[in-house]
Amino acid sequence: MIKYNLKCENNHEFESWFSDSKDFDKLKKKNLIECIFCQTKKVEKSIMAPRVANLKLQNNQKKIPQLKIKKFKKDLQNLRKFVEKNFEYVDNNFANKVREVYYDKKSKKNIYGSTTEEEREELKEEGIDLMSIPWVEKDN
Ligand SMILES: [Zn+2]
Repeated sequence: MIKYNLKCENNHEFESWFSDSKDFDKLKKKNLIECIFCQTKKVEKSIMAPRVANLKLQNNQKKIPQLKIKKFKKDLQNLRKFVEKNFEYVDNNFANKVREVYYDKKSKKNIYGSTTEEEREELKEEGIDLMSIPWVEKDN
């Protein structure tokens, strides 16, 4: 099994598992891959962390030295480790759990998980602003 970060034409990012590296291309050819948020079939493989680096590249028109990207990745891996250690993973139930924590002032739980854009907007309207962080792969 192999996990890919996928990105659709509307910049939605999500993770998906495939049996092997050829599986993605096979399924894509058959139009069986679609965005979990907007159902478009225009989905490509992406890596979340370098997206930030690429943005920087576009703005500055300068090359970021390879070394810096490595350090950057390390920082993000540390951030991920920190979140995994100190936060409770609630997966797709995130939006509901966030409300629970937000409205129950006694509980001060740190949680993380994923939301759809829609849920994110709803939460924002309720005054709950979420922070998203780039989620990098762990080094094997
Ligand atoms: Zn999408």
